[in-house]
Order: sequence, then C-alpha cells, then structure tokens
Amino acid sequence: MLRATKIVATLGPASSDEQVLERLLKAGMNVVRVNFSHGNADEHIATVRRVREIAARLGLDVGVLADLQGPKIRIGKFADGKIMLVPGDRFTFDIGCELGDQTRVGLDYRELVNDVRAGDTLLLNDGRMTMQVEKVGKTTIDCVVVVGGVLSNRKGINRQGGGLSAPALTSKDMEDIRAAVAMEADFLAVSFPKNASDMYMARELMRAAGGRMMMIAKIERYEAIGNLEEILKASDGIMVARGDLAVEVGDAAVPALQKRMIRMARELNKVTITATQMMESMIEEPVPTRAEVSDVANAVLDGTDAVMLSAETAAGKYPVETVEAMARICAEADRSQQGVLDAAFLNRTFTRVDQTIAMSALFVAQHMQIRAIVALTQSGSTALWMSRIDSGVPIYALTPEDGTRRRLCVYRETHPILFEYQSHEREALLLEAEQKLLDRGVVEKGDLVIITIGEPIGKSGGTNSLKIVRIGEHA
Ligand code: PGA
Ligand code: MN
Repeated sequence: MLRATKIVATLGPASSDEQVLERLLKAGMNVVRVNFSHGNADEHIATVRRVREIAARLGLDVGVLADLQGPKIRIGKFADGKIMLVPGDRFTFDIGCELGDQTRVGLDYRELVNDVRAGDTLLLNDGRMTMQVEKVGKTTIDCVVVVGGVLSNRKGINRQGGGLSAPALTSKDMEDIRAAVAMEADFLAVSFPKNASDMYMARELMRAAGGRMMMIAKIERYEAIGNLEEILKASDGIMVARGDLAVEVGDAAVPALQKRMIRMARELNKVTITATQMMESMIEEPVPTRAEVSDVANAVLDGTDAVMLSAETAAGKYPVETVEAMARICAEADRSQQGVLDAAFLNRTFTRVDQTIAMSALFVAQHMQIRAIVALTQSGSTALWMSRIDSGVPIYALTPEDGTRRRLCVYRETHPILFEYQSHEREALLLEAEQKLLDRGVVEKGDLVIITIGEPIGKSGGTNSLKIVRIGEHA
C-alpha cells in the first residue's frame, strides 16, 4: 500500500530491542526520533546504529531526527517528592528554596522572577495545573492555585502568553548537537526557538561541528507564531509541537495554527511534522479513539509531510500496533485527497531551472495518465519541490546518495530508491532507471512515467530536462 504521509516514531524503552525495531520498520516507520530530553548521548548513538543496521538488512531507508531538549523551564525538588494542591491554596516559587514543601518550591530556571508580573497565569506540568501570580519579589513569586493537582519534582513551568527570556540553546544542547553530528542524524530539531536568529545560531553550531542536517524548528512558543515566516526561512522545516504550543497559546488556538503553519511551510518549500498526542490513548490501549483517527487524518488533509508519535512508541504498551494503525489511517486519508493544481500554481514564475522542471512534471502529471514521477536526483531538491504540491502521483527519487535518501524519508509523496547507476550517457541511464523501477515492482510495462534528469549527469542541483516515457518502449 503506497502511503504519501510519513511517520516519525520516537524511540525509547518500549522500542529499543531489535525485534520491536524490525517490526516498527516493517509497519511503516520512516523516521526515528531520538529525544535528548531523555537518556544519554552514548545510548542514542548506539540506538541509531542498531536501527540503521536493521533497516539496511531489510533494504529500507530510515531517517534519523535528533531532537534537542532546549530550555525546558522547570521547578526544583520537594522533600517528599511531590505535593497535592487544591484551588485557593497559596504557593510560592522561591529561588532560595533547596527542598520544597506544601508552601514553596525552588526553581531550576531562576530568571523566571524577572519574566513574570502580578496577574500572570503560570501553567505547570504541561498545563495540567494553573496558578495566578499575586506578587513578585526579588527571589520569590507568590501565587494562588486556580486548577489544582499533584505537583512533583522538576515539573515544567510555562507562562501563558509566552515572554520567557530563556535562550533557545542551552549548554546541554550544544553538547547534544555534537552527539547528533556523531550519529550522522539527518534532521536536527531545535526546541523553543523564538525567532530566526535562534535557528541561525543552531545551524551555525551544527555546521561548525561538521554536520549537514536539515534544521527543524519546533513551533511551541507564543513568540514563534508572530515570527513564523522568518523562522521558516531560516529553517528547512518545522514541527507543529502541539504539546508545549497548547500550553503557551491555549489549546483552542492550536488547530487553526496547525493549518496555517502547514500551508505557509509548503508555500516556502519547507517540510512539516505534526506532533504530540496523535495516538495518545494507544500508550495503554491496542486501538485508537475515534478522535485520534480523525486527528491523524485531518493532519494529512492539512497537507503535513509527516505525523509523529512520542510516548506511544517510546514508552507505550503497543508501539508496533500504533505505527500500523497510523499507517492505515494515513493511507486512507491520502487516497481521499484529490490532487488539484490551482490557478496560483499555474501563474507562478520561477528563476531556477530545476524548480521549473519540477513544476512542469506536476503539470504533465495532471494532464496525462501518469503512473509515476521519477526524479533522478543528487541533492533531492527536485523531489522536495515536486512534493510541495499534491498531484496525486507518487514521486520516486532515484539517487546513489545515502544522505539524500534518508532526508527524503520525511517528504510526503516521495519514495527514495537506491540507484547506483553505471551509465553516464542519457539514453542508457534512462534504461537503467526503467529497469530499476520494474525490478522494484512500482511500474509495469506500458505505464507512462515522467523522468526528470540533469545533464551533465551526476551534477548536483542541475535538473534541466523532463522526458515522458512509456515503460518498455525503448529501442
Ligand atoms: P516535546 O516537543 O515532546 O519535546 O515536548 C513536542 C511538543 O511540545 O509538542
Ligand atoms: Mn515541546
């Protein structure tokens, strides 16, 4: 079953043994996410090596997303590990407090006292608890509990409406960037960027460490929404990080923001990953809820490149079943979508030859009975451009480059195929490509396909021609 939408699955204790990893890959996991908020760098490097070994054995491509922790803003510890608060209780955050009790707790993020004012709303434990700020002192923040619950050691704390001054990259992140480079990750996710310069700084650190990863900005701060366009331009893609985003902007604002982010990303030729709680109930149950099925399908209809699983595959009881269910939902939603090129597409102009060829392929695909679009590519950029607009026709990206195939694992509608060609002459090369597609079983004799190619052959970013070929009709 050909699926356009890709699946990113977070690895963790529930998905670390070889058998589970193999089953996850077979079930349709396209990209693995290693989360630097948990575990240590050596463990992550070993995990990635194991996944790649299994994928190679199965003849599958898998991308690797390294996700930095970022400045998770947390409270300190309690003498008893946790406390219980009810509405109306008074509670103080106190940077001088070593071990907390029923009335106060310390702060890992000491700058919080400078970032909040009386009247602000603070959210704790991913928004499950709410407090109103009454008074801010030099080292203390006095609050009244609005929504109560259990508060335990090192829980996260956010200010509703954003405005926290914490920088996007911590010293831990800088170390983890080096680990991500060491594991040859394909994507680097930056947590809590506020603006384009956070992304530029992360990219510079990544380059200085010798990496070549695609930069993914996690949109999860209030400020990032206002700076969305500049963040997109400074990045290769975004994650709709609905967990923290909902805490900062209010949960009801998230669905419309998701649509806007995906639309804007595609217009700017960037990729999107829609994340968090997509199949949350499957942490405990073998089947998703109706609401989760609709959520995944709606993200597909919004045009996301990939949907992501967090605890479902990292720590859940049914990691394989979750990926299977997600694959099934995506495939069905993909099918229900009709590729249509609108007037905006027809009226666009381009300055780049390779981009124009990519768009021409989509035009042809809309006007003839085309079975497949085949991009002979080095860098993958032709395939990226083609995948920004839904034509309903699968794109096969044939490339000898390992890194390109792995990056293509996140682009919707794009299927990477290893192509170690022998010929350096156009007609012979096209024949080789046809044979590859036949061997893979993705086309049959008599099918009409579009092939894009750059001449001279093998040059990166040089796609300059398009040929419509009937498979098997070569002399
Ligand atoms: P996280 O990011 O899982 O690293 O917190 C995703 C989100 O906030 O939705
Ligand atoms: Mn987050």
